[in-house]
Amino acid sequence: MRKYVIFGVQGSGKGTQAKLLSRDLDLVHISVGDIFRWHVQNHTKLGAQVRRIMAAGELVGDDLAEGVVRERLDLHDWNYGFVIDGFPRNARQAEFFLESYDIDSVIHLDLPDGEVRRRVLARRLCARCGMDYNLIAHRPEEEGRCDVCGGELVAREDDTEEALAERLRIYHEKTDPVLALFRRKEFVVSVDARADIGTVQKNLRERLALPAPRVSEP
Ligand code: AMP
Repeated sequence: MRKYVIFGVQGSGKGTQAKLLSRDLDLVHISVGDIFRWHVQNHTKLGAQVRRIMAAGELVGDDLAEGVVRERLDLHDWNYGFVIDGFPRNARQAEFFLESYDIDSVIHLDLPDGEVRRRVLARRLCARCGMDYNLIAHRPEEEGRCDVCGGELVAREDDTEEALAERLRIYHEKTDPVLALFRRKEFVVSVDARADIGTVQKNLRERLALPAPRVSEP
């Protein structure tokens, strides 16, 4: 059983690296942001509660975030473990998490703020199947269309200059201290996130003393 938390500023590749790691090790990838986005897209009651907050780049209330995490982990479908991305994001969430779950390692994807804007503003998502693209590093074959399902590529509602500035500010104010706390308590592995996807994955696996991946392509 492997239980990891993955940290990093917006655009550091948390989702991408968590997916690669999970796919290869049969871990469950739990992205709190993805769960909230699913609720917004599907017009659920929770979606209605969080939509505006998310679009503004602010943090959803702790009770809602903790509820989502608890409900997801309570499914106990993670026989081989999990990678949790986007949680905990502040001191209270960290306290809740440490009280309820023990983790093996914390992965920190280290990206300078100067690189964040360039990456995030180039990010696109397929509106139909959710596949990620990036107009710098991973362009679709046909402009604006998903290579996999032909769906329309859109920007996340919170990938705007304004919301991004707020998300970065909150990250440094509230999430940086959580990382510092984990550094004192747990085994934190910091990896330079400026490299390409494959190199970052290789480096973090080496740092976690994991075997070479079964699946080679990103
Ligand atoms: P992410 O995809 O991780 O960037 O998350 C997108 C948005 O979802 C954030 O900007 C928040 O509005 C909300 N969110 C995700 N995780 C949390 C969390 N742990 N606590 C509060 N809000 C969250």
